Amino acid sequence: FLPKQLDIQDYIKGLQDSNIAVLSRAITLIESTKPEHQALASQLIDTILPLTGKSIRIGITGVPGVGKSTFIESFGMYCINEGKKVAVLAIDPSSSLSKGSILGDKTRMEQLSVHPNAFIRPSAASGSLGGVTYKTREATLLCEAAGFDTIIIETVGVGQSETEVSQITDFFLLLMLAGAGDELQGIKRGIMEMADGLIITKADGNNVTKAKSARTEYARALHFLPPQPSGWIPEVLVCSSYENSGIQEVVQMIEKFVQHQNINGFFQQKRKEQNHHAFQRLLQEYLRRFFLLKPDIKETINKLESAVVSGETSPYSAVQQLAAFIQ
Ligand code: GDP
Repeated sequence: FLPKQLDIQDYIKGLQDSNIAVLSRAITLIESTKPEHQALASQLIDTILPLTGKSIRIGITGVPGVGKSTFIESFGMYCINEGKKVAVLAIDPSSSLSKGSILGDKTRMEQLSVHPNAFIRPSAASGSLGGVTYKTREATLLCEAAGFDTIIIETVGVGQSETEVSQITDFFLLLMLAGAGDELQGIKRGIMEMADGLIITKADGNNVTKAKSARTEYARALHFLPPQPSGWIPEVLVCSSYENSGIQEVVQMIEKFVQHQNINGFFQQKRKEQNHHAFQRLLQEYLRRFFLLKPDIKETINKLESAVVSGETSPYSAVQQLAAFIQ
């Protein structure tokens, strides 16, 4: 039982005690757009920062139906049986929290959703400052503070959410189906370039041969992509979540990746770059929202823009006039 209002100490103590109800409330707090909540949220995040960073953050993407939920259930339970604590944060770019969604049906993760060492949560509604991924990034930190050491960030492979997810994770996993003919059809090259690992799902029953040949195809395709700066070569694996086959190999691949990245300092380097990116992005968003989109400024920009286009004002002088708003 939790009181209606939690103060900063309640949140910190709750997280340190791995209290799931408090973790849930803390995520709701950081997702809130109310100024008083945001102030408390940023105080909370700052305070818990020393408790964060010790997990592996795994991004998982793939088209609807590829088997993400089923894979996460199987992979998550494997990790839990190895003594891990698993948090799943699901980003659905197509809808906000209150509406039904592609990722809404988390009951598919039957065992995981009721396991005491697991925590499953759909992402915040979009439109908050810094976008969905910024909030997901903070939710990751809260999960880490609450003792979760394996954080899975799931997104549907339908848009630019993959790029954003790769900005907040250490390892990016792309799930794929074995196609009937042209194996590479419909897969955007950009997404393949982002992947640290590829998995051909549903490698069971009649599908096994098809999955194995898809694996060969994809391994060949990856070979032609530019190498990663760290020298890591993405692996292609096959798995069946139904039969729990290939799951151990996925875990081993991620362990191998972490070891590889740690040897040459790339693991921490990437996280530092991600912090930098998050700061830059938030700053841009802040400027956009509180400067460029302010009604009077927006109106002036529109006027100046026309004046610049028609040659009445120089671009430099137009920007100078705008700068007067902040001086
Ligand atoms: P998501 O939309 O990517 O989350 O995909 P789901 O996990 O909901 O799976 C989509 C469909 O594929 C469901 O009907 C699953 O039962 C099925 N499926 C998932 N994993 C496997 C698997 O390992 N083998 C087989 N044969 N079917 C699977």
